[in-house]
Amino acid sequence: MRKILVAGNWKMHGSKTMVSSLLEGLLAGSSADGKADLVVFPSFPYLSLTESILSGSHIHWGGQNLNPHAQGAHTGETSGSMLKDLGCHYALVGHSERRSIYGESDEDVALRFKAALDARLHPVLCVGESLEEREQGQTESVVERQLDAVIDNVGIDNFRRAVIAYEPVWAIGTGLTASPEQAQSVHAFIRDKITSLNAIIGGQLRILYGGSVNGSNAAELFAQSDIDGGLVGGASLTAEDFLAIYSAAV
Ligand code: PEP
Repeated sequence: MRKILVAGNWKMHGSKTMVSSLLEGLLAGSSADGKADLVVFPSFPYLSLTESILSGSHIHWGGQNLNPHAQGAHTGETSGSMLKDLGCHYALVGHSERRSIYGESDEDVALRFKAALDARLHPVLCVGESLEEREQGQTESVVERQLDAVIDNVGIDNFRRAVIAYEPVWAIGTGLTASPEQAQSVHAFIRDKITSLNAIIGGQLRILYGGSVNGSNAAELFAQSDIDGGLVGGASLTAEDFLAIYSAAV
């Protein structure tokens, strides 16, 4: 049985006040024996505050990105070991905003995935097609290319520690959501691919859906056999909205 995982990507939002009250709200409205695991991805400056509030609780946290290098002269960058030092369990890699706005290639993403593993973090690998790619019938080939870049670099066995987030780019922050059937079909494709390489990992791997998930659509998405939770942007910024998604796990 794969437990549902609900993860909030706060992107470049927040303040000390907002982060504190949001985390207190999440702690009050969730529990260790709930139906879902909860993870938050605050901006780097708030990881220390997050650690001080969540430490010892059932909610885990992670970094929104990490540098491929372990350390060195990389001004403005953050390493996997720094994330680990701040109590992170997870690191997002390959979010579509990193790929499209900051030019991270499939190969860059693979190096960041490896850096997360090297720091004993769980990488959350984001994959997904653009609207144009979907309209041209390239959804599966794009997702497969993004997966292969990482598998070729680290090997399938290292997916034991990973989570995959399928996030169609056209559904991120747009209010458009893939239908449960559209999402399930890509999730099944991803699981079949991983299973063909390692059946145990394929069966255990949590594959999250991301793209305008909210309290109204989460239950139907999470009910799909290969959807194991959500990576949530906008609706993770208030405790009320985020907990409505958490409560959709049954
Ligand atoms: C995301 O940024 O990963 C995301 C899914 O955002 P939203 O929920 O706002 O579409």
